[in-house]
Amino acid sequence: LTHSIAGKLFRIIFSVYFVITAVVTAGQLVAEYRETEERFYGELRSVEPTFRDGLSDAVWHFNRDGLNKILDGMLQSPVVLGVEVRDRRDMLLAAAGQNPTSAALDQVNSADWLNKGISLTFPIQYNDDNGEVRNLGYWVIYSSRALVVERLEYRITSIVVASAIKASILFAIFMLVVNRVLGQPLKRLREQLAAVNSTATEGEGRVSLGLTGRNELTLVEETLNDTLKRLRRSNHELRALTEAQDRQINVRTLALQAANVELERLSETDALTDLANRRKLETALADEWRRRQRSRQPLSAIMLDVDHFKAFNDAYGHRAGDDCLQMIGRILATAARRPGDIAARYGGEEFVILLPGTDADGAMAVAENVRRAVVAAATPHGRSTTAAVVTVSLGVATADFDAGWPDSPDRLIDAADHALYAAKAAGRNQSRPAQPPPAHAAE
Ligand code: GH3
Ligand code: MG
Ligand code: MG
Repeated sequence: LTHSIAGKLFRIIFSVYFVITAVVTAGQLVAEYRETEERFYGELRSVEPTFRDGLSDAVWHFNRDGLNKILDGMLQSPVVLGVEVRDRRDMLLAAAGQNPTSAALDQVNSADWLNKGISLTFPIQYNDDNGEVRNLGYWVIYSSRALVVERLEYRITSIVVASAIKASILFAIFMLVVNRVLGQPLKRLREQLAAVNSTATEGEGRVSLGLTGRNELTLVEETLNDTLKRLRRSNHELRALTEAQDRQINVRTLALQAANVELERLSETDALTDLANRRKLETALADEWRRRQRSRQPLSAIMLDVDHFKAFNDAYGHRAGDDCLQMIGRILATAARRPGDIAARYGGEEFVILLPGTDADGAMAVAENVRRAVVAAATPHGRSTTAAVVTVSLGVATADFDAGWPDSPDRLIDAADHALYAAKAAGRNQSRPAQPPPAHAAE
């Protein structure tokens, strides 16, 4: 994270602080220089009253030794680098030390500002015995700005060092405070938010910046925690809602499944007798046909028709006819008791029993049982020419896959139907096995 708020704040404030400090320090240095330079000139000027009388006296009397001694005395002053004495016609009378102005004047570059020569010129005047003032010439004291700067060096150093120390201390304190007040809490905020984010809205997920007192950051902290709490609550509610919806969907799905199962059952069931209907029989027959064909097991079908049923209806009414069909339905349901056996209402008063895995003899036995049970039910039938009670006729056919006849489910039903017709023709109230056509009969 290179662009932290604390870092930016820090950079801005310190840039400003450094500029101000630099300006103030520079001003201080200039003032310091002026003061030192003034004092320096004062010292330089104070040379003149000390040596004035001796110098004019030595020049008046052409006392060369005295003049040289005076010049040596002047050089003892720490501010004096050199001295010249000239007469009224600019003739050099005496000189000592060095003259830094002549060299410095040639060089105008700024690097030599520090070494710029300084000179002060004073007249040489002598009061003779008549009280007259005589102009004898002039003398020049030479010095250099380097000496002023030399004096300043200690002051400059102390000012710069003091400024640097002040700045460093302030820098450290500021860094510490900004980091503590802003940098650290913001870092914690960032890290905790990342942690909260990674755990989504599960678990605790609280932000704690560990701040004392109240400020914008504690407000942010409180608001965030409120938001997190609300988020968790709504998440919780959402989950509860979803679960409730899931349960509701499950309940509805189960009800729908049950309804579908019932619907499927109804679609395959005959309403009057509760047996399988013709549609169901046909699909079951097709399935069983394939299965038995594979396993080479026999598949038998019994076709049943109520005898003189039209007459029964005419005599006892349609309602009684339906009751009679229901009675036969119950008998058939009982007869088709093995798993895989199916009793179905084939048409108005015609029924089929499908007996997978049952051979012709077994199927004939079932047919006879049914016939006898119907007789035993003893439903009176005054109009029947066969018996005094309701009877049925049955045709029995068995698919023998080794013999290859009948060769389709339809042919099996047809064969049973033919046998039924034969039973009717032979006097009703009897079961008849189907007769295979001559080609198959031989086997
Ligand atoms: P057969 O002995 O030759 O079978 O004489 P049958 O009168 O029974 O003749 P058929 O088998 O053709 O009978 C059909 C009659 O069965 C017609 C109708 O009166 C009656 N029937 C058909 N379906 C129903 C039904 O759902 N309810 C009632 N009550 N009667 C039906
Ligand atoms: Mg019929
Ligand atoms: Mg009939």
